[in-house]
Amino acid sequence: ATPTAVMVSTGKGATQGVLIKGGAALETARKVDCIVFDKTGTLTKGEPSVVNTKLFRYIALKVFFSIVASVEANSEHPLAKAIVEFAKGLRLQEPLEQHQVQDFRAVPGQGVQAVVTGKRVLVGNYKLISENGISLPPQASEQLQDVEVLARTAVLVAIDGELTGLISVADPMKPEAPAVISTLKLMNIKSVIVTGDNRGTALAVAREVGIQPKDVIAEADPKAKADRVKELQSAGMVVAMVGDGINDSPALVAADVGVAIGAGTDIAIEAADIVLMKSHLEDVVTAIDLSRKTFSRIR
Ligand code: ADP
Ligand code: MG
Repeated sequence: ATPTAVMVSTGKGATQGVLIKGGAALETARKVDCIVFDKTGTLTKGEPSVVNTKLFRYIALKVFFSIVASVEANSEHPLAKAIVEFAKGLRLQEPLEQHQVQDFRAVPGQGVQAVVTGKRVLVGNYKLISENGISLPPQASEQLQDVEVLARTAVLVAIDGELTGLISVADPMKPEAPAVISTLKLMNIKSVIVTGDNRGTALAVAREVGIQPKDVIAEADPKAKADRVKELQSAGMVVAMVGDGINDSPALVAADVGVAIGAGTDIAIEAADIVLMKSHLEDVVTAIDLSRKTFSRIR
């Protein structure tokens, strides 16, 4: 394609909300035969909310949530924000500020911990709980699975070494996601999921959008996400990565084409070659189509 054609196409993309940073990205997009999708905020809306709570020990719900929220108030994680928001809605008898939170610590990929009015509190996933030597009662293991089968995230809470509650958090699917994955399949483009969330939840989302279990990588940290991209490239594929978070940026850089969700973090947007300003997944197809059309004219 002539430089003019590239400029015209880039301009056309921009008017449709597909920001393409340079001719190289536009040229490579047509060769993509594998797309790696982040889950939270990419395939899902990234708007988690508390939908369910189970308690395993006697504790008043309001007391439980005031303790959990006082810990989560120190975290930037979207799950933490959902829990704090829910706790506010309960109009707690004991305002959050009344709890003394000491020794707060975020455990990357697992959750948070702190000492609240003298009690040791852990809030996070199964890994956090098990690595602290706390066992799940049989009913809790069952409920954990039930939560994950529904594509929700289970947040476990232990107080003073005992599993006390399970908070179920749901993040709705973007309604266009399954259709986009099936369209990509028709275009001979393989889709895979890479997520920091647990395997059960990741598999449930994969099933809903039509991605095979073998193409799901869960419990992945930023490096694992980038490594997966590189593995697929080593297998001979031209790989696009679609993501929204800071934890996606190494993978966005590693990919042949990095695609950021416009509503995502600045760091992801900076790391990407293409930005979907409307945050619509269909625009992944728009970008590839635009590339194919631009570069087929010259053949
Ligand atoms: P992601 O953003 O993809 O979920 P993270 O590495 O941030 O990846 O977190 C991985 C997992 O650790 C989360 O899915 C959640 O189970 C747990 N986690 C992390 N931070 C928190 C938190 N503040 N509260 C509860 N759980 C958390
Ligand atoms: Mg994300």
